Amino acid sequence: MNKALILVVEDDAPIRNLITTTLKTHDYHYLTASRGESAIIEASSHNPDIILLDLGLPDLDGIEVIRQIRSWTNTPIIVISARSEDADKIEALDCGADDYLTKPFSVEELLARLRVTQRRLAMMQPEGTAKSSVFTNGSLKVDYAAGCAYLGEKELHLTPIEYKILCLMAKNVGRVLTHTYITQNIWGNCWDNNVASLRVFMAGLRKKLESEPNSPQYIQTHIGVGYRMMRVE
Ligand code: CA
Repeated sequence: MNKALILVVEDDAPIRNLITTTLKTHDYHYLTASRGESAIIEASSHNPDIILLDLGLPDLDGIEVIRQIRSWTNTPIIVISARSEDADKIEALDCGADDYLTKPFSVEELLARLRVTQRRLAMMQPEGTAKSSVFTNGSLKVDYAAGCAYLGEKELHLTPIEYKILCLMAKNVGRVLTHTYITQNIWGNCWDNNVASLRVFMAGLRKKLESEPNSPQYIQTHIGVGYRMMRVE
């Protein structure tokens, strides 16, 4: 069933081999590149379904690779970064990366990230877009046209800001959104990126959305990075 083509961009041979071995055992197709320039060429000539991109490359900055690839395609990009590159990881997400893996990561984590991304891709297919004025995820329903959100049959009584945050998360389901991305989308550039305030609004939203706000099902926290709405079965 997994026939997706993955472009693996990683200059560290042992890590690259771990990734390609994992992909091979799970029926993914793959291409590899160990430098930024060749990654851009592979991406443009083979049009992969997903790109796994190491941020620390010998020739180009990984951020630059994302910028160039994003100039012509929305192919999902999952960045791979070392813990010391946390700021780069956030910049990568703000430049259009979809998700990230922090080294060292397990094979299970890698596969989980690929599944999340594939599910998101499946949702973006044309047949899914016809009814895009209503978003459903588990028992959550957002009716964009009516400006209402429901949990099962029950309407959620959200403040305007909570509703805006919920819509932003829903429209990007499966993607990790950084604090900066969210605050700029909700409040615009005049907002001074106040993460503490965002956290307060998020807590309010979760109290209404989640049956157990302390172990949220819909909105996942990425500490120091941002939030992601998960697909709920
Ligand atoms: Ca590297």
